[in-house]
Amino acid sequence: MALDPRDGALALLRLLEDLPGERRIHEPLAPYTTFRIGGPAWVLFFPATVEALIEAVRRAQAEKIPSRIIGGGAKVLFPDQGFPGLVIHTRFLRREEEREDGLWVEPGVPISTLVSRGLWVLAGVPGSAGGAVVMNAGTRYGSISSFVTAVQTLLPDGSVATFPPEECRFSYRNSVFREKRLPVLRVGLRLPEEKRLVTEILAERRRTQPLEFPSAGCIFRNPEGVSAGWLLDRAGLKGTVVGAAKISEKHANFIVNLGGAMATHVLSLIELAQNTVRRVFGVQLTLELEVVRT
Ligand SMILES: Cc1cc2nc3c(=O)[nH]c(=O)nc-3n(C[C@H](O)[C@H](O)[C@H](O)COP(=O)(O)OP(=O)(O)OC[C@H]3O[C@@H](n4cnc5c(N)ncnc54)[C@H](O)[C@@H]3O)c2cc1C
Repeated sequence: MALDPRDGALALLRLLEDLPGERRIHEPLAPYTTFRIGGPAWVLFFPATVEALIEAVRRAQAEKIPSRIIGGGAKVLFPDQGFPGLVIHTRFLRREEEREDGLWVEPGVPISTLVSRGLWVLAGVPGSAGGAVVMNAGTRYGSISSFVTAVQTLLPDGSVATFPPEECRFSYRNSVFREKRLPVLRVGLRLPEEKRLVTEILAERRRTQPLEFPSAGCIFRNPEGVSAGWLLDRAGLKGTVVGAAKISEKHANFIVNLGGAMATHVLSLIELAQNTVRRVFGVQLTLELEVVRT
């Protein structure tokens, strides 16, 4: 496979030709992320079925073309120069099925839909079911891992497998799917019995998070026993600006895009924040944000 973007994109289009779905060539990724940052992908493919997604991943792997799956784009930072390969978007994969063992959903089902089905603990968290499983999304009320009964995935040898919860290796904002970059194809969920009105939770998030600007939520994981936001605030980092990216004054663990921010601006702020917190508190902050490196 040639590495020239034009040839690469055309070869990718040919490779995916017979698969149902939509495709865009040299498509900027910024509009597909909540950060509104990211250059073009060689090809952005929206498979119409999970089977088309599986086949696209298998073919890209066989040709050694880099590939990435995205859902809501609420936790990713793509480089300004874009992604030299295939980005697969799950927006059309939204089927849901009630089975005896619970609810099964495709990866593109929005988290907000899961919330309306009863998964109130994730109220206000943007993104897709697939992204939520990969990131083990959660709030102070709980994480998706507590409700997952099984996850269907694609193994590196090209076979489809169904993982029970213990094989998903969920931990704080992490899973085997994030660690090993495994596709999430379908998710089985047992929804909580307890019901709760989410209006108050949403209002609290609006009060405490800078939702008026594009962002990717919390940038850093909370270290053991302390919040990353508190450390960043106490280190005097709130309001720090690089280019068009700013450490939010409302919530220090958010970096916001003031308009036209580049990935390089965000990465500089991340480095500055990590260095400052290490110097002041001797604590190494690690990333919750998924930084795509090419
Ligand atoms: C304003 C705001 C508030 C937020 N608040 C919270 C919060 O309270 N709690 C929390 O946990 N998160 C929060 N987030 C982060 C984000 O909402 C979650 O991480 C969410 O689970 C991301 O889902 P997504 O579909 O957008 O994932 P994406 O950003 O699309 O992808 C995230 C990662 O998962 C991978 N991925 C996505 N779909 C698949 C798939 N089907 N198969 C394999 N890999 C896949 C991507 O390649 C990437 O590595 C917040 C974000 C924002 C912008």
